[in-house]
Amino acid sequence: MRIVVLVKEVPDTFGERKISLETGLADRAASDPVLDEICERAVEAALALAGTGDHTVDVMSMAPESAVASIRKGLAMGAEAAVHINDPALLGADLSLTAEVLAKAIERENYDLVVAGNLSTDGNGGVLPAMIAEWLDRPHLTQLTTLEATDSTVSGARASDDGVLNLTAELPAVVSITESFPDARFPNFKGIMAAKKKPMTQLTLADLGVNAEDFSVPRSIMTQVAECPPREAGIKVTDDGSAAAQLADYLAQNKLI
Ligand SMILES: Cc1cc2nc3c(=O)[nH]c(=O)nc-3n(C[C@H](O)[C@H](O)[C@H](O)COP(=O)(O)OP(=O)(O)OC[C@H]3O[C@@H](n4cnc5c(N)ncnc54)[C@H](O)[C@@H]3O)c2cc1C
Repeated sequence: MRIVVLVKEVPDTFGERKISLETGLADRAASDPVLDEICERAVEAALALAGTGDHTVDVMSMAPESAVASIRKGLAMGAEAAVHINDPALLGADLSLTAEVLAKAIERENYDLVVAGNLSTDGNGGVLPAMIAEWLDRPHLTQLTTLEATDSTVSGARASDDGVLNLTAELPAVVSITESFPDARFPNFKGIMAAKKKPMTQLTLADLGVNAEDFSVPRSIMTQVAECPPREAGIKVTDDGSAAAQLADYLAQNKLI
């Protein structure tokens, strides 16, 4: 089985994240770029699955030129090849265009199983894997906490408020995984050196037959972007014996009780 993991570079999760008020896009220069942690877990999950049978793992990203180092991290972890979709017309791509582009690239490479994170750290859309499954007309197992496969099926568990659902789908399929998956391995020196020689296919919109200006497909357009107002200081309650009454008054005044 051929597995592809969808990976995204994001601004450092622990650093300051900023939106450029000029472009409305993530200010990629504001903090160090890293491979999103959930995508690292997805690569780890795919590599673990690959170890159980005759499977291969590739990584795929739709990202600007600057993201090559992050994509290579997936190769250094153990993926065999990468697909990088990069085209100036993709600047500011919304979820709809991103899903179309990735679906076309997945179709082109004929992958059996697509593994994605459930939610990216920066965009926070949380719908891309479902949109890709829709484009590909494939089943989608969402929010998985475990991942297994046979030659013809993929399965996993999804935790719910009331219990655990065990899900199975016929291949080809799309799955998204949660942070319940184990931490990703650190690439070792051998892996980092090997990654430099692994194939990375570069694709443009023309290669995929996608027209970013085609508005017969739903596309969202950003109409305005504004900085959040700074948070106001809260009220400090000093307990002089009346703290409980003060708290109750506060909650009542704000219609919280
Ligand atoms: C030139 C260029 C500039 C871009 N600039 C920005 C930007 O400024 N800010 C921004 O947020 N995005 C940017 N993108 C990426 C793209 O627009 C977003 O990734 C897309 O809208 C997905 O939104 P999300 O992260 O909320 O998806 P979610 O639905 O939250 O993502 C869920 C999962 O889908 C997969 N996934 C998400 N995005 C990608 C991707 N691009 N490639 C591969 N797998 C993916 C990952 O596995 C992720 O965990 C840019 C892309 C290009 C080519």
